[in-house]
Amino acid sequence: MAKFQTPEITEYPVIPRIREGAMAGTKPLTAKPEHQRALGFPGELMDNWKEVAINKMADLLGKYRSLPVFLDSCVKCGACTDKCHYFVGTADPKNMPVARQDLLRKVYRRHFTFAGKYFPKLVGAVDLTEDLLNDWYSYYHQCAECRRCSVYCPYGIDTAEITMAGREILDSVGIGAKYSNEIIGKVYIIGNNLGLPAPALKNTLEGLEEDVKEDTGVDVRYPVDEKGAEVLVIAPSADFFAEPHVDGLIGYGKVFHQAGISWTLSSYASEAANFGIFIGSYENMKRVAMRIREAALDLGVKRIIVGECGHAWRVAYSFWNTLIGPFDFLDPRYPAPQHICEFTYDLIQRGALTLDKSANDHRVVTFHDSCNVARATRMGNVPGGQLTIPRGVIKAVCNNFYDMDEGTIGEATVCCGGGGGLLTDDLMELRVKGALPRMQALRHVVEEHGVTHMAAICAICKTQFAKVLPYYNFSMDQIISVHHLVGDAVVLGAKQ
Ligand code: SF4
Ligand code: SF4
Repeated sequence: MAKFQTPEITEYPVIPRIREGAMAGTKPLTAKPEHQRALGFPGELMDNWKEVAINKMADLLGKYRSLPVFLDSCVKCGACTDKCHYFVGTADPKNMPVARQDLLRKVYRRHFTFAGKYFPKLVGAVDLTEDLLNDWYSYYHQCAECRRCSVYCPYGIDTAEITMAGREILDSVGIGAKYSNEIIGKVYIIGNNLGLPAPALKNTLEGLEEDVKEDTGVDVRYPVDEKGAEVLVIAPSADFFAEPHVDGLIGYGKVFHQAGISWTLSSYASEAANFGIFIGSYENMKRVAMRIREAALDLGVKRIIVGECGHAWRVAYSFWNTLIGPFDFLDPRYPAPQHICEFTYDLIQRGALTLDKSANDHRVVTFHDSCNVARATRMGNVPGGQLTIPRGVIKAVCNNFYDMDEGTIGEATVCCGGGGGLLTDDLMELRVKGALPRMQALRHVVEEHGVTHMAAICAICKTQFAKVLPYYNFSMDQIISVHHLVGDAVVLGAKQ
């Protein structure tokens, strides 16, 4: 049983009264020395950690132009304070985006500004102490790097960038989060976040083929390591077996089957997720992503399509071309990379799929925009395609669709509460409390329109909601993959 109270859903969003230190003791478990070292970080807190931390900060300030700009430009207007779901859910003032930034800003001022060096008290500059380092660890792991606060900041300050810098400095002195760092290590050794080896992956996919055959009577294939396939699909590993993810993978297979386009998964690059972005490490992000380039070359594919995973799409869309490109070996007629929703939407637009919308008539659907997709990427060649294309797909396969409140969707979408490397049981209280704004918006459409399901295109959102929905008296199966809806509506067999 939970040792904390689930926040109450009120009729309208309420800005909570602050509760100092409410989440001060909340932090994820730290990574073991061997997991730290596997990623190129010190195994444990170094003796000269203070000096290393300041040097690392200097390095990041020189490397990322955005960091000093964000640290220098805040005018403390307060517009961001109530925009973070973790502040709304926990009432801890250090979960206000501006206060989260200040944890790093006050050390930055002390060491890197004239006023902070000579008149620290006047500008709120302080030395880095062990207590402050602990606060960094705690509160930089209470930020999902969702970037919602930056939408409301008149200066566009992106707290996620500051969180990433904070985590990068922490890793560099030997304190990393177990959840993210262990997972990155598994990708290096085995190829996916779950540590699912190639034979187990092949078995799982064969099992899926049997299930779909039993269900539909049609031989839909879920191929792996097939050289010469046209498309390499990079899916989050949760798609291979977790609920509700796997029904999305089943849907991808049905779409490829009906489109008559050959595809394959890769057992070497069997993971779309890239937790390198969560820890702010471009080196690790590049190393994880490189497996995908290598698999694409090895399999001789012409296109790469990314499955339903929010941060993976951000890494793919925003970073792959510079990190692991150029993709001049792929077919230039298609976007590289392409999102699975973009692919399906294009087929729908061209009339290449026969769809029976009534197959979803027992569902009334809403859509949760995933932060990384909504605020950090695009889809298709129309501005806002990352918001309209998934909805276009859903509306093409469902008769009953209702959006949630405007301030909680699109660019203003609220985080599921488990993004940015926080999807660990160590942080369950934070995850449940941080889900409050989304649960509130969901409750409205449930009451007003009888919504039964919330669709998503992110593996983390799906896992997070499956876990937290019951805390708010919803059922865990109310979260559904967009391609589950597609898979149920696609009419298999000869196109009519
Ligand atoms: S990036 Fe998201 S989680 Fe982090 S402070 Fe801003 S709103 Fe909160
Ligand atoms: S909205 Fe921007 S400028 Fe205003 S307090 Fe927040 S971070 Fe600072």
